Amino acid sequence: HIRLFTGSSIGWDWEEVSGYDEHMNTIRTYQVCNVFDSNQNNWVRTKYIRRRGAQRIHVEMKFSVRDCSSIPNVPGSCKETFNLYYYESDSDTATRSSPAWMENPWIKVDTIAADESFSQVDLGGRVMKINTEVRSFGPVSKNGFYLAFQDYGGCMSLIAVRVFYRKCPRIITNGALFQETLSGAESTSLVAARGVCIPNAEEVDVPIKLYCNGDGEWMVPIGRCMCKAGNEAVENGTVCKACPSGFFKPTQGDESCMQCPINSRTTSEGAINCVCRNGYYRTDSDPLQMPCTTVPSAPQAVISSVNETSVMLEWMPPRDSGGREDVVYNIICKSCGGGRGGCTRCGDNVQFLPRQLGLTESRVYISDLLAHTQYTFEVQAVNGVSDQSPYSPQYASVNITTNQAAPSTVSIMHQVSRTVDSITLSWSQPDQPNGVILDYELQYYEKDQSEYNSTTIRSQTNTAVIRGLKSGSIYVFQVRARTVAGFGRYSGKLYFQTMTEEEYNTRLQEKLPLIIGSAAAGLVFLIALVVIIIVCNRRRGFDRGDSEYTDKLQHYTSGHMSPGMKIYIDPFTYEDPNEAVREFAKEIDISCVKIEQVIGAGEFGEVCSGNLKLPGKREMFVAIKTLKSGYTEKQRRDFLSEASIMGQFDHPNVIHLEGVVTKSSPVMIITEFMENGSLDTFLRQNDGQFTVIQLVGMLRGIASGMKYLADMNYVHRDLAARNILVNSNLVCKVSDFGLSRFLEDDTSDPTYTSALGGKIPIRWTAPEAIQYRKFTSASDVWSYGIVMWEVMSYGERPYWDMTNQDVINAIEQDYRLPPPMDCPSALHQLMLDCWQKDRNNRPKFSQIVNNLDKMIRNPNTLKAMTPLASGDILRVGVTLAGHQKKILNSVQMMRAQMNQIQSVEV
Ligand code: AMP
Repeated sequence: HIRLFTGSSIGWDWEEVSGYDEHMNTIRTYQVCNVFDSNQNNWVRTKYIRRRGAQRIHVEMKFSVRDCSSIPNVPGSCKETFNLYYYESDSDTATRSSPAWMENPWIKVDTIAADESFSQVDLGGRVMKINTEVRSFGPVSKNGFYLAFQDYGGCMSLIAVRVFYRKCPRIITNGALFQETLSGAESTSLVAARGVCIPNAEEVDVPIKLYCNGDGEWMVPIGRCMCKAGNEAVENGTVCKACPSGFFKPTQGDESCMQCPINSRTTSEGAINCVCRNGYYRTDSDPLQMPCTTVPSAPQAVISSVNETSVMLEWMPPRDSGGREDVVYNIICKSCGGGRGGCTRCGDNVQFLPRQLGLTESRVYISDLLAHTQYTFEVQAVNGVSDQSPYSPQYASVNITTNQAAPSTVSIMHQVSRTVDSITLSWSQPDQPNGVILDYELQYYEKDQSEYNSTTIRSQTNTAVIRGLKSGSIYVFQVRARTVAGFGRYSGKLYFQTMTEEEYNTRLQEKLPLIIGSAAAGLVFLIALVVIIIVCNRRRGFDRGDSEYTDKLQHYTSGHMSPGMKIYIDPFTYEDPNEAVREFAKEIDISCVKIEQVIGAGEFGEVCSGNLKLPGKREMFVAIKTLKSGYTEKQRRDFLSEASIMGQFDHPNVIHLEGVVTKSSPVMIITEFMENGSLDTFLRQNDGQFTVIQLVGMLRGIASGMKYLADMNYVHRDLAARNILVNSNLVCKVSDFGLSRFLEDDTSDPTYTSALGGKIPIRWTAPEAIQYRKFTSASDVWSYGIVMWEVMSYGERPYWDMTNQDVINAIEQDYRLPPPMDCPSALHQLMLDCWQKDRNNRPKFSQIVNNLDKMIRNPNTLKAMTPLASGDILRVGVTLAGHQKKILNSVQMMRAQMNQIQSVEV
């Protein structure tokens, strides 16, 4: 309560007197009571009151008013109210006469009446009945103001006036601090205040606001802050306190800190998680509240039961699961005692049922093992945290030896061609030969006949021509392989039909225009026609229907093959080449392939590197050849023919086909990735960087791959360093099995020169192949000699810049490439052997491999170099820059030519 009336009052009839309040305390009041006189206008004013930032001022008045009716003989002008005014001013400038005692300049706030009770005013200082009224006004904006009370004919006493403003106090609520805020100018105003998060709290919703109302109360909270991770709210949410040690809180929020789970601890206060103790781990998906876990102990009591080439393994779960429920088992298969002691990992062909890795049951069935072989199986127990442990998984191992077993079933058989009375079939080698295949037995019978009437024939290779069949009849065929362990099981039954006479005649008619078109002379045509007519009339003896395949069939039915040997099948012998793709190349789902970058340009589209992740196998780096869009059906066939050729090969020095993507676009061929790219470029980039032994090692690999291809009766026709790929271990692999460039005449690549019926890489090709297209493994040997020269000269171009015609002429005149610089004479001698004019005198690839093996075993044989003529001052053994080397090579070539001339003279 501020007493306002001391000394500053002015007015006419207000007077300061003493009296008593309700409690009989003495008080000082201002009184006026001129009810019997008319035209009263009595004012009293307060002293100057500073505003102190308030926008709205509240005034509480305590007063008493005499009831007019209680005054005897009072005139009608008697009032029971008074007026409240205010006047704003920036300084205390009021005087007795200013501001003038009237409304305007004074601003009226209200007329004040006693609410219910009129008091018995006792001017003699006795008890008064006190009223309290509150009024407010605003907005006020000057530095201060005065209040005034106007009586206009009443009888009253003003006891006390309290002047105040309202404010909302400084508070912490919703995780934020709000500073003291004064209420607004109107009683209904809401004044917005921004909150600031308390220390270690973070905003959850923004903005963070509260509104201060006219009564000085906070209301309408918006947004909030919450304690950060590692801190919890205490003291009624007004403080965020760091979690004590041994406790953690992973997220922002209202929750309390939690105790660290078992096997974990904190490293400091305010932890957001607890770290696992040494030897204990968590997976990414383990909740932080979960105890830390460890790796399982080894599986127990592994039992094996062997059946021929399969084995069933069963075991008991580990004694200690490491505290987790996700224990699974992996099987590591090692075949041991392959003659040299030591164990090697089993190959891909071993089958595991239900699977090899991530077994949930404690048993596995392993099949397709080699017969008579010792194996060690490790049964590893792993769980979700095994990959974090620095120690390899605990395992229990078991040794077994498989029994002798017959070969597995031949799974693929297909028809190569057919006539009216014969069918030519070919089939794949069994996946598990379980020994050396001695031969195959083919059983067949007419479909309408009983199986008991079947005929069996033997074949030493995986093809057979079955003759003496009825025309237009369906036959049932089955094949099985034989080893010393006996016959394997028969393959499933396959049905093939011989041609009908009508079919044959229709085909013949389709072919006649072709024959006419291609015949060189009418006479030839006539003779052919006569021959065909005669043959047609020979009904039973008719066997020309497969003439278009005859060359190719000889290609794989003749020759000296070891029994059971797998031989190469030309995809173009298939009536439908897509069938060859299906048979020899695995279809890969595009979702398993991730292309990374383009690494080269192939004949049919880009070559990319990427990753291949086949289900159940490890992700591997691969090369991806694509077929560019807009291809013709023929281009697609030619492109994929490379895959159906490559897919038949399986050798460490032949590029390995992983599979093809043909069911989505673009069509792709996926092969193993060869980090160092093609050999010619690789050598040019690393000129002089390898030892002779390293170079011979590369040559040995290429020869070994070529031996494998030659053994399969495959003739490469384009063996050259550009078609050898090199991996990161310097292993060289034969690649490029595309056929198309030999078939088409429209390539612009000058390496390949058009010849009658195809294009030929002259510098690499044997003379008989250039002259009359006699491509054989012996012509591949010639090309191999050129590759040797390319390798020893670090990628020099064979015959340098001589023209193709010059090369052909030089070879015809028995000229041969001289030894490249630093080339041991033994190697040059081997090249010269490969370049024997008579192809029968050239070494076989097997001999080349043996020869190179000997050199590697006895490096002394590589020391001898071909001596240079006395004029050749350049020292052998010094690496020379490219152009110097060229000069040297030219010198050697000239010398060779001089020798040639000399020998002619002799
Ligand atoms: P090609 O169509 O086979 O001649 O391939 C074109 C180019 O792609 C080659 O010269 C190599 O540089 C590159 N290339 C092809 N296959 C592979 C592979 N398996 N690994 C690495 N690079 C390859």
